[in-house]
Amino acid sequence: MREIICIACPVGCKLKVKHKGELKGQWIIEGNLCEKGIEFAKNELTNPTRVICSTVKTTFKELPRLPVRTDGEIAKELIFEVMKEINAIVLDYHVECSDIVLRNVLNTGVNIIATMDMLDAKNEKRG
Ligand code: SF4
Repeated sequence: MREIICIACPVGCKLKVKHKGELKGQWIIEGNLCEKGIEFAKNELTNPTRVICSTVKTTFKELPRLPVRTDGEIAKELIFEVMKEINAIVLDYHVECSDIVLRNVLNTGVNIIATMDMLDAKNEKRG
């Protein structure tokens, strides 16, 4: 039996997963408060993925780092390589929230997007 925490919502149900007999890919999943937990557990056991949230460097003094995230799920085994790509970004132009700062990272079909409008940050500091 394996225990995993469902991260599909903030409740964080503790899921107990065990193989169902001899059938490969068949599990008994317990501890989920909703159906999303079943889906999460199946994905976690077969093809675990994550949305990555991070920051990128900029050349602007008023906002030296800009928050970003992937606009889709990335295979868990690619997270380290994707983080290398994110860490190599230095933005020298202004972006708005949801603008793509790196397209199709590592040919995954997933983009790295801004999660903040640079102009908003500038105006907040002026306050
Ligand atoms: S099983 Fe449902 S309620 Fe529990 S953490 Fe997952 S999504 Fe949230």
